[in-house]
Amino acid sequence: MRIALIGSGYVGLVSAACFAELGHEVTSVDNDAAKIAALERGEVPIHEHFLPELLKRHHRKRLNFSTSIMESVRASEVVFITVGTPQSETGEADLSFVEAVANEIASAIDGRKVIVEKSTVPVRTCESIRKSLLINGALPDSFSVASNPEFLREGTAVLDFLYPDRIVLGADDDYSASVLQEIYSPLTNGSYYLREDAISFTSSTAPQARLILTNAKSAELIKHASNAFLAMKISFINAVANISEAVGADITEICAGIGSDSRIGAKFLNAGIGYGGSCFPKDVQAFHAVANQCGYEFGLLTEVMRINAEQRRRFLYKVRSALWTLRGKKLAVLGLAFKGGTDDVRESPAIAIVEALLREGAQVRVYDPAATAKARLIIPKDGVLYASDPYGAAEGCDALLVLTEWKEFANLDLDRVRSILKYPIVIDGRNLYDPKEMADAGLLYYSIGRAVGVPRAMSSTVHSREATHLCPITSSASLQPAVTAL
Ligand code: NAD
Repeated sequence: MRIALIGSGYVGLVSAACFAELGHEVTSVDNDAAKIAALERGEVPIHEHFLPELLKRHHRKRLNFSTSIMESVRASEVVFITVGTPQSETGEADLSFVEAVANEIASAIDGRKVIVEKSTVPVRTCESIRKSLLINGALPDSFSVASNPEFLREGTAVLDFLYPDRIVLGADDDYSASVLQEIYSPLTNGSYYLREDAISFTSSTAPQARLILTNAKSAELIKHASNAFLAMKISFINAVANISEAVGADITEICAGIGSDSRIGAKFLNAGIGYGGSCFPKDVQAFHAVANQCGYEFGLLTEVMRINAEQRRRFLYKVRSALWTLRGKKLAVLGLAFKGGTDDVRESPAIAIVEALLREGAQVRVYDPAATAKARLIIPKDGVLYASDPYGAAEGCDALLVLTEWKEFANLDLDRVRSILKYPIVIDGRNLYDPKEMADAGLLYYSIGRAVGVPRAMSSTVHSREATHLCPITSSASLQPAVTAL
């Protein structure tokens, strides 16, 4: 199948490389000429496992790059829209990129095309794309519009695409349904997994991806509802963590207890500093706005967003509790990406916390394995130094803060950390360590939803009340006076 993808970001580029891997002839399009030129030179603009390998394997064979929507649409049978759908000021999804692309596609259509919306969009966007194509001159019989929401996660995007939990196809006519099913057939019939050169996650079994074929509106709602549900899981466990912390229970054990119930599942039950990234914050807001437009006040989502915002403020409160005042303090920060395994810093809680620390007069020395270049463009320059490894960040600092769950941050040499910090204080927003292990290593260890790990030498000065009542269980309103707004 000849496929064009309009938008070569995290979703568009990964999908393009994976469609080429499945045997299709693919053009990955973007209006960012510099990005396309870099891709042409063989550079990989995002940090994503297996992506360099796939681009190398298929570039100039089954995968090409272009800045021309006109040429790429004309050369393709199927056109995926993979541009961004950011949050507008009112909280709704801003669909202006989707509309601009739909308008350009309309003038390029020169034969039967299937236009597939892969970006995350509000329900009924397929209808709007259809209307847009028609008023811009496309003939009614020359196209179908379908929905194929994407569920890949940054950091594991290639494997998520090639080994999906499910593939959702929202088609309102038989032609687009059959074309989309053909595109994904190597995954749904399992033939891809039998290939010797298949990108593999060491599974010896050959799975078959599950296909859910539905109409466009249901597919659109599946995506928004899925992301809202996952965000709800995160806020739920963070709320439980706050109770756990107040009574001196252990949220990691509580998560294991809850998550081992197969009706609930263990994923997305990690307490921390809240969700971020380019999807959950905007998608929960947008789904809330969709509900409003339908006349339904989705109060549950309002609470999900409130808990998430409060979680960052609670972390800052915790830093202040551990360090007293922040003005002039030197703080080491591990992690800037919104989660481990990616260089994406969009809506990263880590960045928001770093900015709040800077506003409070702290100096910050940061390290992230992949996100530094992107973070530099956002974080104010004054008061920030960039280190080349975790120990370079920690050297001489008053405390070490862990803000992103990179795997390498979970395996630090604790003796070294203790010896290079000015004070042996670690405040972990991602619960990467066991409090007892940290205390045994001589580190005063604050985490989320668990008692403080207090080294034996400090046990007479750090009281158990402090250990269990780090942050009062209060509404965010009563936390406000004590902490800088985030
Ligand atoms: P992105 O910002 O990384 O990429 C979007 C790309 O579209 C950019 O390269 C931009 O230059 C390009 N673009 C914008 N307007 C264009 C135009 N008129 N012509 C050609 N190219 C244009 O975005 P992303 O993270 O890939 O997300 C894309 C969509 O997929 C969003 O709706 C997002 O919510 C959804 N999504 C993202 C993820 C994720 O993890 N990033 C996962 C699932 C779904």
